[in-house]
Amino acid sequence: MKSFDVPVVYRSPLISAVKKARKEEDRMKKDFSPTLLHFGPLKIYLARHFGFCYGVENAIDIAFRTVEENPGKRIFLLSEMIHNPQVNGDLKQSGVTFLQDNKGRQLIPFEELTAEDIVLIPAFGTTLSIEQKLRGIGIQVEKYNTTCPFVEKVWNRSEAIAKNNYTIVIHGKPSHEETRATFSHATANAPSVVVKDMQQTIELAKYILGEKPAADFYTEFGGQYSEGFNVEKDLQRIGVVNQTTMLASDTQAIADYLRETMIKKFGLDDSTVKDHFADTRDTLCYATNDNQTAVTGMLNTPADLAIVIGGYNSSNTSHLVELCEEILPTYFISSEEKILSPQTILHYNFHTNEELVTNDYLPSKEPVSILITSGASCPDALVEAVIRKLVSFYPQSKTVEDITEAISK
Ligand code: SF4
Repeated sequence: MKSFDVPVVYRSPLISAVKKARKEEDRMKKDFSPTLLHFGPLKIYLARHFGFCYGVENAIDIAFRTVEENPGKRIFLLSEMIHNPQVNGDLKQSGVTFLQDNKGRQLIPFEELTAEDIVLIPAFGTTLSIEQKLRGIGIQVEKYNTTCPFVEKVWNRSEAIAKNNYTIVIHGKPSHEETRATFSHATANAPSVVVKDMQQTIELAKYILGEKPAADFYTEFGGQYSEGFNVEKDLQRIGVVNQTTMLASDTQAIADYLRETMIKKFGLDDSTVKDHFADTRDTLCYATNDNQTAVTGMLNTPADLAIVIGGYNSSNTSHLVELCEEILPTYFISSEEKILSPQTILHYNFHTNEELVTNDYLPSKEPVSILITSGASCPDALVEAVIRKLVSFYPQSKTVEDITEAISK
């Protein structure tokens, strides 16, 4: 895979050594067991895959290079580059200004931009109408576009589904930048509707089956369907695409549910199902699949707790948390600063959108076993910082340098 120039401050000697050793042992990525870092009284199990993905490294590389190569120019980012507060903070620090927040609310009016300005499109991509607006001002949209190729793949898939006269059902978070961008690209080609989860899928199926009055759809799915959507006409032939970072098991269950709904509605069998349901695979990206499979592999190891590191608004990170919390006490933190002491941790509950304080999160026995992973937008340096903080609570431990050296040999 292509390599990128990412600021060294995001790298970690420990994590780089671990990833290099695992890659050399398992080039085909078949082994999803975690890596044990045995510090003595503390055993850390690191997931086989975690941290910066292709799209994030690509976006960071382009963004920092753009800043370096354009002194004196005004540089704007459409919205958060990726969902990591440290990376976004560093970009702001280097002089980049954000035009919108991550819900699409305008922070700086587009009217203030000129053709001389640079506008970076984030890894999630953007909507066709924003692209058009920027082009209208004279901004070179293509030149500073960091849209991930795996997001563009979803757009291409929806175009292919549309060409075969299917309506596009997008499984994603309606307010997420990526889903808003995919929705905009999809609606340019076909009627489209977003479902955020299985609950909404079940409700959509009721409209397909005629179990709910069609008129209710427009309120229930407000803001989630394309202009002119006709429930009676546009739910006869459907195809599903996904936001790239959804939970794989949800994605599969939703596609299966809709397929079964079409079979039931139209009395289909395996040979005729294609007449009403597009036969496609999910559009999750490789990083989502690898990171979720690695968490499943890691959870086979008995442990006392799990720590997941990432931005609180990061979709892919929240799904890793979801998998871990089914099995273990799990703490979702954005940096080592959230580990306040050996007794107290500050962590995020993404179900209720609040930060909580938990006491006695570390058991008093030794050794303590902790599973650790991080999201696709989390710098490895943050993972190392978390490990260092935990190690500091055990004075008899080996040091991070000891472990790095042992792995590098
Ligand atoms: S998580 Fe996947 S789609 Fe998103 S930036 Fe990374 S590789 Fe691209």
